[in-house]
Amino acid sequence: MAIAVYPGSFDPVTLGHLDIIERSAKMMDRVIIGVLKNYSKTPLFSVSERVKMLESITAHLDNVEVQSFGGLLVDFVHMNHADVIVRGLRAVSDFEYELQIAQANRVIAADIDTIFLTTNIKYSYLSSSIVKEVAAFDGNIDAFLPPLVADEMHKKFREQIVREGKEKIKR
Ligand code: ADP
Repeated sequence: MAIAVYPGSFDPVTLGHLDIIERSAKMMDRVIIGVLKNYSKTPLFSVSERVKMLESITAHLDNVEVQSFGGLLVDFVHMNHADVIVRGLRAVSDFEYELQIAQANRVIAADIDTIFLTTNIKYSYLSSSIVKEVAAFDGNIDAFLPPLVADEMHKKFREQIVREGKEKIKR
């Protein structure tokens, strides 16, 4: 048994992510979810909103905690005295990128391994970007997200519609 870090953007966290979290929590002593402060992407949810949602939906898992981080993933792993990085694989397209990152991480931190969990087949198509695209066109996102996260998405898009409406009136 070991301590794992499961890093990602989680913008928003989907049922596919939650499945990986629940499965790794069974295998590990502790799982630390690392929410990436990713300055190159413009996120839909702020880091603190993402942390809060992850905390709520993992409240039933005693050995799971949520933190945010910036900078190098391996530094975050060392800081938490963790042993492994967990990543999810949906398709061959994930594999190429993930392999490259895992190998680069091994070069800069030889003591840290990356383990891959294959997706639960029912979530193999699911990504945060797909959810955002469907939501942007007012499609039904309830099958993709934990209910609490779906509610937050609906709220976010309603806020956006109101904001855009106000901007149009100003113009
Ligand atoms: P990143 O920006 O780091 O790719 P994501 O939030 O998109 O962050 O994904 C975090 C991790 O979760 C990645 O390892 C990704 O492959 C995995 N993941 C995302 N969606 C799924 C899914 N439906 N099934 C299994 N793993 C997934």
